[in-house]
Amino acid sequence: MQLPETYSLRIKEKALELGFSACGISAVHCLDKERDRLQNWLSNGMNASMAYMANHFEMRLDPGKIEEGAKSVISVLINYYPAQKQADPDAPVISKYAYGKDYHLVVKEKLNNLLIFIQSALSPCRGRSFVDSAPVLERPLAKAAGLGWIGKNSLLISKELGSYVFIGELIVDLELNYDGPFVADYCGNCTRCIDACPTGAIVSPRTIDARKCISYHTIENKDEIPESIRESLHNQIFGCDICQDVCPWNKKAKPSQSLDFIPVEGLLEMKKKDWEALNHNTYTKMFRQSAFERAGYDRIRRNVGYVNE
Ligand code: SF4
Ligand code: SF4
Repeated sequence: MQLPETYSLRIKEKALELGFSACGISAVHCLDKERDRLQNWLSNGMNASMAYMANHFEMRLDPGKIEEGAKSVISVLINYYPAQKQADPDAPVISKYAYGKDYHLVVKEKLNNLLIFIQSALSPCRGRSFVDSAPVLERPLAKAAGLGWIGKNSLLISKELGSYVFIGELIVDLELNYDGPFVADYCGNCTRCIDACPTGAIVSPRTIDARKCISYHTIENKDEIPESIRESLHNQIFGCDICQDVCPWNKKAKPSQSLDFIPVEGLLEMKKKDWEALNHNTYTKMFRQSAFERAGYDRIRRNVGYVNE
């Protein structure tokens, strides 16, 4: 019979073979340290209109409550840093994570393949994969699996990869060998992300007030974007990368090797006038299966209108 150490090693090897950039494993445990932080954030209304963030509070803190009998959380990262950027400096700006295929689909498929590998090559088990979709605190879990620290911009930062990474989890009812948590904090005295945020949304280290965040407003906010935010959009119509772009840990980010994240054809070449002329048909054709679907055509049109004000 194989030992948990062997299982863990083989799972990590397989994760890399499937195209993940890093993999770490932690025991299922309650993320008690996050309790006060999450409670305060919600109590202060910093989740804006994202009421769903307040649902399943206990489940969020304890992955053991999501899946009965869950023993291990396999956390994975995949680098999405693009080799190329938008060509026209005057074009409305979109977040780099949305250049290619929707990461939910990409990461989920890879995680499901990882589960099939575990079940067929290692041991029968039950498991469930998550990608930014269920009540899972992805960043603290990735930190618990030794993959990085949570920066002052609230994002997970890997020493090797930076922060342009998607995170996913596979929760299994199999005991494995565990990585230690990532204890160091390499932000040090740096405050570049806080200083660069155009709307002051990083209200304190690791705390983002969604009511001020451009990423929230351009993607999630179904209503009018408040004027104070519109004044500071910096030409951004989908998401905002400013607090990542300034981070020194992203200086050496290497382009993703994943074919799934190759930019949608024609996207990076779009000029300002192309965005203004974008009709529903073209939008649907271009962005089918892309992360853009989250905002939808009308919201993108609305945002293009704002940056032209
Ligand atoms: S995403 Fe943009 S608006 Fe939001 S915290 Fe980062 S820099 Fe500020
Ligand atoms: S910019 Fe500086 S403070 Fe902000 S996350 Fe990066 S290292 Fe940390």
